[in-house]
Amino acid sequence: MLNFELYNPTHLIFGKGQIEKLPTLVPQGAKILLAYGGGSIFKNGIHEQAINNLKGFDIVEFGGIEPNPRFETLMKAVAIIKEQNIDFILAVGGGSVIDGVKFISAAVHFEGNPIDILKKRIMFTEGAKVVPFGTILTLPATGTEMNSGAVITIEATQEKLDFGGSAMYPKFSICDPTVIASLPKRQIQNGVVDAYIHVLEQYLTYPHDGYLQDRIAESILQTLIQVGPEVVERPTDYALASNFMWSCTMALNGLIQKGVPSDWATHMIGHELTALYEIDHARTLAVVGPNLFRVMFETKKGKLAQYGKRIFNLTGSEDEIANEAINKTVEFYHTMGMQTKLSDYTNKFDHTADFIVNRFEERGWVALGEKQNITLEKLKAIVEMSY
Ligand code: NAP
Ligand code: FE
Repeated sequence: MLNFELYNPTHLIFGKGQIEKLPTLVPQGAKILLAYGGGSIFKNGIHEQAINNLKGFDIVEFGGIEPNPRFETLMKAVAIIKEQNIDFILAVGGGSVIDGVKFISAAVHFEGNPIDILKKRIMFTEGAKVVPFGTILTLPATGTEMNSGAVITIEATQEKLDFGGSAMYPKFSICDPTVIASLPKRQIQNGVVDAYIHVLEQYLTYPHDGYLQDRIAESILQTLIQVGPEVVERPTDYALASNFMWSCTMALNGLIQKGVPSDWATHMIGHELTALYEIDHARTLAVVGPNLFRVMFETKKGKLAQYGKRIFNLTGSEDEIANEAINKTVEFYHTMGMQTKLSDYTNKFDHTADFIVNRFEERGWVALGEKQNITLEKLKAIVEMSY
């Protein structure tokens, strides 16, 4: 097992009705920016619940953070915080609102051009001057409610870039599984698949001696396979909703990544497909992931075979099981309503591989994956195979 440090200061408050604890979580006397997205929180009553639980606090509202949050929009919130001396941010929404708030938090006191936070991938470590924030999660998927990363789109250049650091953990996150009742099916499907692929990015690498990490990862995959298809149909079933929500948090709160290698190339490529074609994040991953496994088969086949045996009870030779495990993964994505080819989403895909290869080359992203053996040539093959 590799050496590691585990640091996760987010106070997670999980369960039905937990929003009532909001007044004890927000710092007393704080002036709050309540940040949200396109308005779903008004329709499902979460806005009202938040406001009712924040009586006596001075609140300024900032709405309109879009899915795949835009740098340009977030900078408007940065200006409001500076003008109005706001000292706490409450993110109420899904991954986009929470990631957006992480960027706002970091940009307010940043000395320099805030776009460099993304372009130069600045890390905000403990002690960095940031605006503290908490979250009320409305969409289980990303794990951002309990991690320190964020992904932001720069509209002007159609780039989707990540940043983070240990100062970017939410102070608290309220996760009430009943909030998923109002989610469109498509977003529940996205949530299950995003979380599933977060686990695969950290699990499907090469055989190692992180036995416990593997077993935890496998249990999250099994739970998502168990509850995923059902929770789409019955989001008001609390057992399904709570297991779905907790699995999503556990998939990317840092725990299963400790002491083991991880990949993340599927996410890096997927971000480009969202930036270029505005395809939902999870759906880009379902397109890219299986083809990455195919192209990187020799590196990953040991772990693919373990996954095939333990998750899908497959039998046969290592190569047979590993290949069939990829097919079973695609089948699961189909069950979850994903389409798995780029051409299912756009007919303008012709030059996508060359475009992404050029971008990655410019950024120096020329050796990706857990063994840094995803070269630009392999990258091109993965994207072309995804057409
Ligand atoms: P999202 O983009 O936050 O939200 C998608 C849609 O769902 C929005 O239209 C939103 O509406 C709606 N919605 C949210 N909660 C709802 C509810 N309870 N009822 C009805 N509608 C609701 O989706 P997401 O999948 O959570 O986040 C995706 C973003 O996170 C991407 O940018 C992705 O790259 C990023 N991401 C981040 C991490 C990380 O670790 N930081 C990991 C993976 C992905 P409103 O706008 O009206 O609220
Ligand atoms: Fe993701």
